[in-house]
Amino acid sequence: MERKVYLDSAATTYVTNEVLNEMMPCYNIFFGNPNSIHSFGREAQGIVDRARDRIAKTINAKSEEIYFTSGGTEADNWAIKGIAHAYANKGKHIITSQIEHPAVMESCRALEKEGFEVTYLPVDKYGVVSLAALLHAIRKDTILISIMAVNNEVGTIQNIKAIGKTARENGILFHTDAVQAYGALKLDVEDMCIDLMSFSSHKIYGPKGIGALYIRKGVRIANLLDGGHQERSKRGGTSNVPAIAGFGKAAEINARDLMVNSQRMKSLRDYFIKQVTEKIPYVIVNGHPQQKVNSIVSISFELIEGEAILLMLDFEGIAVSTGSACTSGTLERSHVLSAMGIDDETANGTIRFSFSRSTTKADLDYTVEKLVDVVEKLRKISPQTKSGRKGE
Ligand SMILES: *Cc1c(COP(=O)(O)O)cnc(C)c1O
Repeated sequence: MERKVYLDSAATTYVTNEVLNEMMPCYNIFFGNPNSIHSFGREAQGIVDRARDRIAKTINAKSEEIYFTSGGTEADNWAIKGIAHAYANKGKHIITSQIEHPAVMESCRALEKEGFEVTYLPVDKYGVVSLAALLHAIRKDTILISIMAVNNEVGTIQNIKAIGKTARENGILFHTDAVQAYGALKLDVEDMCIDLMSFSSHKIYGPKGIGALYIRKGVRIANLLDGGHQERSKRGGTSNVPAIAGFGKAAEINARDLMVNSQRMKSLRDYFIKQVTEKIPYVIVNGHPQQKVNSIVSISFELIEGEAILLMLDFEGIAVSTGSACTSGTLERSHVLSAMGIDDETANGTIRFSFSRSTTKADLDYTVEKLVDVVEKLRKISPQTKSGRKGE
């Protein structure tokens, strides 16, 4: 049988059996509407409450500060637009970064069309936002700072606690897109001075189509969906009970096994980088050398197209991604790599490898073996080999 290696966990993860087992009875046994007063409804409500508790506990929040959404994208949209609309009378300036996920980026662009002003902070070559730049950007009318905790393309970790403190000291709300961070780091909304935080279930071995927005008690936010009284009347619509149950279970397992998984991935990651850099010439490992998550490795292979590498690895049963899943498929260049000052040619040759809990050393050995082959083949036929590198 052909070998299959999935190295695209930053795009999505499989659902674990423990999570599936939590979900299944919600479809046919505990199928009630949580809003119904009878026993079926109360049972379903109990499941939703428990999931909310489980999730709140993992980030040191109160249960009633967790609002379920359809995923990370919805949480990001709600946080940014909902705060902008609730606080527009106080000011119309928002600060974010140049390396945000499209869900944040495009929400900010949409607000610009409504007359809000947005500052997109630059990052250094490692993808880190400078605190000095942040301080400099703060104005009297700044109402929100939205900076992602971990970048999905290169894995760089931001100084979230310092950014949160800065926001707090200046009386500005702080939102962080923690979709990638949630599965990789310990997050504490109190310690990190976070007012709003987005996360998503399908990046932590839970089902797709469910996520959450943490909203600190006392923070005003415009309703997302007017309707029933679900989610404290801020997001109406019958709760997706099976998905919520699965998300809650996934969150609990994730928090429980975080350190073990992270350590395991670190050794795999270090091994992989060592193998690739030893066996393949002209490669650049992107992102911060230390301040990055262990599950994501971004590597630029000079003189060739990432798209071509991806397709040839796919042919060998290996799943990777160019830049991020959200920009691949379009031939658009990565706004993240470009913000980090990586030239277009190098950016084009970039592949993201992202590990899962079940990635093995054998998976990586197989990947490196194929990668060596693929890169050599592509470089042989690459027109860039002659024109691009002089004197070789
Ligand atoms: C995947 C991702 C999202 C979007 O989450 P969905 O649940 O797929 O909508 C947002 N931000 C980051 C950083 C992500 O990696």
